[in-house]
Amino acid sequence: MIAELDEVEVSYGGRAALGPFSLSLAAGEIVALVGPSGCGKSTALRLLAGLEAPQRGEVRRDAAPGETAVVFQAPTLAPWLSAAANVALPLELSGLTRREARERAASALARVGLAGREAARPAQLSGGMAMRVSLARALVTSPRLLLLDEPFAALDEITRRALADDVLALWREAGPATVFVTHNVEEAVYMASRVVVMSPGPGRTLADVASPAALP
Ligand code: ADP
Ligand code: ADP
Repeated sequence: MIAELDEVEVSYGGRAALGPFSLSLAAGEIVALVGPSGCGKSTALRLLAGLEAPQRGEVRRDAAPGETAVVFQAPTLAPWLSAAANVALPLELSGLTRREARERAASALARVGLAGREAARPAQLSGGMAMRVSLARALVTSPRLLLLDEPFAALDEITRRALADDVLALWREAGPATVFVTHNVEEAVYMASRVVVMSPGPGRTLADVASPAALP
C-alpha cells in the first residue's frame, strides 16, 4: 500500500464535500478518479497529497512527503525561470549540485519531447508544452506517489492524446503509483489500471473497476 483513504469525510463550513470515501492505492497502480463536478475529486487528491486533513476517517501513507509529486490543472511553473531551471528546482532543493540538477532536468525534458527547449520560459511555450514541463518536474524526482488533478483538461484533443501516450510511457518506465482526476471517461479507461467512479454530491464510490489498460 502506497496511500489510503479510509472512510474519510470532509466538509467546508458545515457543508459536506466528500465521503465517507475510501480508496487504497497499491504500488504500480494508476487509478483514475472520475465523477461529476463538485463530488470531491480534488478534495480526495489534496487529502492524498497531505495538503488537507479530513474531519473524519483516516489518511494513511507509505510514501513520504518528499516521495510525492503533485501536478495541478494549471501549470504552476515559475514564469521567470527557464524550462530547465523549473525542472531542476526540486533537485537543487533536494541537495544536488546545480550542474547535476541541470543535467537531469535536460534529460527529463528530452523524455517528454522537449529537447532543445531547455532555455524557453513558460510564456514562450504552448499549453501542451508547459504541461509537459510540469510533468517533467514532477517525474524528475522519481516520486513513489504521483497525483494529477486534471492534467490534460486545458488541452485540445490532439495534444491531449500525444501527451497521454508520452505520460503512459514514462509511467511504465518509472512506475510511480498514480491517482489522476479526470472528467474524460475515455482518457480514464485508456490510461488507468483502475477506474473509480464517484457519486454526485459529497461523493462516495459508485464503482471501482479494473480497466482494460491493466491487461497485459
Ligand atoms: P471536484 O474536484 O469533484 O469538482 P471538489 O473537491 O473541488 O470537487 O469540491 C467538492 C465540494 O467542496 C464542492 O461542493 C466545492 O464547492 C466544495 N469546496 C471545495 N473546496 C472548497 C473550499 N476551499 N472552500 C469551500 N468549499 C469548497
Ligand atoms: P505540444 O503537443 O508539444 O504541446 P502543440 O500542439 O501545443 O504541441 O504545438 C505545436 C507546435 O507549435 C509546438 O511544437 C511549438 O513549436 C509551436 N507552438 C505552439 N504554441 C506556441 C507558443 N505559444 N509559443 C511558441 N511555439 C508554440
